[in-house]
Amino acid sequence: MKQYTVLTLFPEMVLQAFSHSILCRAQKQGYIAINAVNIRDFSKNKQKHVDDYPYGGGPGMVMQAQPIYDAYQSIPCEKRGRMIYLSPQGKRFTQDIAKQLSQEENIVFLCGHYEGVDERVLEELNAEELSLGDFVLTGGEIAAIAIIDAVARLVPGVLAKEASFEEESFWEGLLEYPQYTRPPVFMGRSVPEVLLSGHHGNIAKWRRQQSVLRTKQKRPDLLQ
Ligand code: SAM
Repeated sequence: MKQYTVLTLFPEMVLQAFSHSILCRAQKQGYIAINAVNIRDFSKNKQKHVDDYPYGGGPGMVMQAQPIYDAYQSIPCEKRGRMIYLSPQGKRFTQDIAKQLSQEENIVFLCGHYEGVDERVLEELNAEELSLGDFVLTGGEIAAIAIIDAVARLVPGVLAKEASFEEESFWEGLLEYPQYTRPPVFMGRSVPEVLLSGHHGNIAKWRRQQSVLRTKQKRPDLLQ
């Protein structure tokens, strides 16, 4: 079973995101386990503060190293594995990285908040940094949720058939072909004839052509 542990100030936000649909079922069936550890539980002060003013001045607050470090230490050793800090400064997350991460048995995700986290805890925990994209979120939770979703669905058994993702966008550097379902005509628009033909070879050829065409039109950068 793959174990994903999220260190966060908002555990309900993370757990709630995985309490529906495919990934909820995958947890019940024992393919994956998603846990959230509340960093605030490891604060050592009475007010349960986990942040403080930045040295050198400047706006906002910085998450302190100690509660994060202790939250990490509370994870049983066998569930620790790779440590990823969600950060706009990290390597941009892609489908290729999702494929690599889906091979890992255990991953710990650290979600920052406010102005981020004390740099020393990232060094101490040897954290890799991953970004959801070139924009700034208020916290790492949405990024962790998106990344766990993309990774977990590639774990064998989580989706009904491997074919469900092997023809998907980005799998072979192409976008997926257009999809249609019933009825055959909608607002005067018909489903392409070939898809109704039952000829598997022609359908596969048409889909491949459409994938290349779409990629050229929508994401020419992927073809380079
Ligand atoms: N001051 C930081 C900077 O300029 O790099 C941004 C801090 S951001 C407001 C707060 C937290 O949100 C970060 O610590 C990080 O965990 C998360 N975050 C923000 N943008 C993100 C992104 N694009 N990808 C992943 N995590 C992000």
